[in-house]
Amino acid sequence: MTETSHLPPRTLRLALDQSALAENWRYLNRMSGSAQAGAAVKADGYGLGADRVVPVLRDAGVQDFFVAHWSEAHSVARHIPAHRISVLHGAVNREEAEYGIRHGIRPVINSLHQARVWQESGGGLCHVMVDSGMSRLGLSLEDVSDPVIAALDIDLAMSHLASADEDVAQNALQLERSRAAFAQLPARRFSLANSAGIMLGRDYHFDLTRPGLSLYGGIARPEMAGNIRQVAIPQAAVIQKRRLQAGDSVGYNARFVAPGPMNVAVISLGYADGLLRLQQTPYLEFDRKKLPVLGNISMDMTIVDIGQAPDLREGDWVNLPYDLRMVSDRSQLSQYELLTILGLRLR
Ligand SMILES: *Cc1c(COP(=O)(O)O)cnc(C)c1O
Repeated sequence: MTETSHLPPRTLRLALDQSALAENWRYLNRMSGSAQAGAAVKADGYGLGADRVVPVLRDAGVQDFFVAHWSEAHSVARHIPAHRISVLHGAVNREEAEYGIRHGIRPVINSLHQARVWQESGGGLCHVMVDSGMSRLGLSLEDVSDPVIAALDIDLAMSHLASADEDVAQNALQLERSRAAFAQLPARRFSLANSAGIMLGRDYHFDLTRPGLSLYGGIARPEMAGNIRQVAIPQAAVIQKRRLQAGDSVGYNARFVAPGPMNVAVISLGYADGLLRLQQTPYLEFDRKKLPVLGNISMDMTIVDIGQAPDLREGDWVNLPYDLRMVSDRSQLSQYELLTILGLRLR
């Protein structure tokens, strides 16, 4: 596990479990059958830091990386050959197309306009997105047979599933439409599935899958639970340890009173940090041992019972349990949002 925060020093940080990240990719790659799993690393690696997740994924074996914007491609290109980076929003004007050509980064062409811009700027190998029923980015099914598209040199033809995390008829419909579109595209490789789509089975795998969320610990479908590990771990420092005697009260409004002698620790984590309200677990963890929260949480501190962790010392770091699916169920925020919130708060 690597310490991930930057200077100035803080008593709250976001740890990245690199081996969990690599293992999650290996699991998703295995579940992709004969297809290769790539990696979506947009939004700064889903908030965890592209500079930290890309090298781990590269070393695990990822070949294809997906970002949304050209500005994101720049930091990813520090770690991998540029031609392995795909920019999902495509090149909407000559400036972007020329940037891609100059740096050898490939756009995902989403429209006939983008195809023309790419060709007029010099072109070269590119990717193509087909909209098979999400009304987001991508060529319509009618556009696929346009001569402008036929003239492109296409590596990857792809589409994106809207509801792969649900068992709905839309999945099969999108699969059928993707197949029809792919049959008309002179691409070297084809791709449809995101994290959830991988679990829909072989028909959805084609040559390449594109997981994002589940690389970083998101449980995109229930079948994954138990195989996907937590990657992003909020950690807070122990500021002080104390010994309580029977009758000593803890925190605002004395909501906890020690029934007998006990050891407690004051942790640098409170409501001001914006995570406890979401997380709602009544304990923190140290060394896989539970540290129950005592009394009311303060603005920026929490007091925990460390009876189970006698080795805990001032300055040590304790973990905030942050199971994305559980927190999502409780908070009504999506797992995507919960991950990126962590990044914004703690990095
Ligand atoms: C974000 C994205 C992915 C990854 O989706 P997850 O649901 O996070 O696995 C794959 N493909 C495209 C086109 C995307 O925009």
